[in-house]
Amino acid sequence: MSIAEKLKKEVAARRGDLVALTQDLIRFPTLNPPGANYREICDYLDHRLLRAGFHTKLVRAEGAIGDSDAHPRWNIVARREGATPGPCVHFNSHIDVVEVGHGWTTDPFGGEVKDGKIYGRGACDMKGGLAASIIAAEAFIEICPDYAGAIEISGTADEESGGFGGVAYLAEKGYFNPDRVQHVIIPEPLNKDRICLGHRGVWWAEIETKGEIAHGSMPFLGDCAVRHMGAVVAEMEESLFPALAQKRTDMPVVPEGAKQSTLNINSIHGGEPEQEEGYTGLPSPCVPDRCRMVIDRRFLIEEDIEEVEQEVRDVLERVRETRPGFEYDIRGIHSVLPTMTERDAPVVGAVAGAVRDVFGKEADYVVSPGTYDQKHIDRIGRLKNCIAYGPGILDLAHKPDEYVGIDDMIESAQVMALALIELLGKER
Ligand SMILES: [Zn+2]
Repeated sequence: MSIAEKLKKEVAARRGDLVALTQDLIRFPTLNPPGANYREICDYLDHRLLRAGFHTKLVRAEGAIGDSDAHPRWNIVARREGATPGPCVHFNSHIDVVEVGHGWTTDPFGGEVKDGKIYGRGACDMKGGLAASIIAAEAFIEICPDYAGAIEISGTADEESGGFGGVAYLAEKGYFNPDRVQHVIIPEPLNKDRICLGHRGVWWAEIETKGEIAHGSMPFLGDCAVRHMGAVVAEMEESLFPALAQKRTDMPVVPEGAKQSTLNINSIHGGEPEQEEGYTGLPSPCVPDRCRMVIDRRFLIEEDIEEVEQEVRDVLERVRETRPGFEYDIRGIHSVLPTMTERDAPVVGAVAGAVRDVFGKEADYVVSPGTYDQKHIDRIGRLKNCIAYGPGILDLAHKPDEYVGIDDMIESAQVMALALIELLGKER
């Protein structure tokens, strides 16, 4: 039997362990916000990975946004050296999950197994991926104990809120420097036969229109900031949205609708704040003197961020030219550049070969419409050889009754294990 065949068998034989591990991970309610139980899940992973022969380090992202004594941002980085020097393959998973929301028919932190699926918040995004990568590494160590190089596994905080207390912090501390780590696989739920090369860019901004407060019975004595904002929205409909729809990318973004530039208006607030539910008073009559809009612009690798910003400023300038009294401010609040790993990068080739071996077909290459921790590995870590590959169906992420398929986890763990053979220098 070839090493590849032995390794696939070894992973499949660990099915019970994989299920139990995934259930255990789901049972830590690592909700973000606020960032709960990070230390507890890191301690659990610490115990598990020490047993598998890893050296482990728990790292608190002290001073990072979100970190506090009430909710410390703990991360774990585990490393196991091989028999001889060589490259390091790093599996990075986030340990946080988003809020539960309504509509569940199973216990979101119960890890219930039903019809070959494990249910729970974070089952697919991404505790199933974390468990699969651990099983892949442990099986690989068993079958190829004299591998060259090193394997790292990290569990990191706060991906769902930007990753600043997680991968960004570790990248700043040098954990993702290319002289320490050469290949990164992020087991996000991108489907077991797809390789995610990167993501589109993001620019968030807040636009404010200004007016003048006056009595609502005499609006002509004031200047309504909400009407000015209405003019901004109208101009966006007229010129900006059609222009964005024309910009198509060569990045293999999924779903199809995200293969173009997009803009979402996240919120508009103007005038008196909304009252709490149950408040029975009437509103007071005022002309709103401020209106704020938050926009979420997603851009393509073919665009640059200055251009993206200028386009929105141009909209505001066009309104200003035609609208008496129109005054505005605009400020960027968050941005991430697009990133895409080359298809001929070594980690891509290794995973593609493993997908071919396990599924008997070519991998699909995709790019994510939204960002994930690859942004920090690229920009801060300066490491380009990074992909997302893992089990689970992306569309289930953040939904009620989130689940991960057990067969899918086994197969993607086989892919990850076979990629290790390729990357850590063993004959197949
Ligand atoms: Zn995720």
